[in-house]
Amino acid sequence: MAAFNCIVFEMKCPRCERTAEGRAQVHVAADFDGNVSGRFMNRTYRLGDPMDWFSTSDYQHPDWVGYDERNAQGILVEATSATCARCESDVDVIVEFGELKAVRIVLELDGSVLARWDRDLATGNNDGDLDGTE
Ligand SMILES: [Zn+2]
Repeated sequence: MAAFNCIVFEMKCPRCERTAEGRAQVHVAADFDGNVSGRFMNRTYRLGDPMDWFSTSDYQHPDWVGYDERNAQGILVEATSATCARCESDVDVIVEFGELKAVRIVLELDGSVLARWDRDLATGNNDGDLDGTE
């Protein structure tokens, strides 16, 4: 059994075509160890939420990536499935991560973006740099 966390996001479901909450299991920032707040697993995060993990001074900090790999653009990605809260369909997705946070959900089938963290909305920054790349 592996440790995992859950990413929740709003999407237009590719199956039922309604706006719905999607939930995706990821192994990023998941461990049976933890800190005073508990184990770093079975936690639910929204896109852009900083994920709980060992501090940067802890030797285990670099392990937040789990066994995932970076794509050609250097973005950490995890292939998983997302479940629609309305029709309960599972769709194959790629979750893209920035530093200890999920930032984008891409449909594996055609690469279309199901959900993304709007960094400028979160920070009030309005410089127009919204392409989601690091
Ligand atoms: Zn659906």
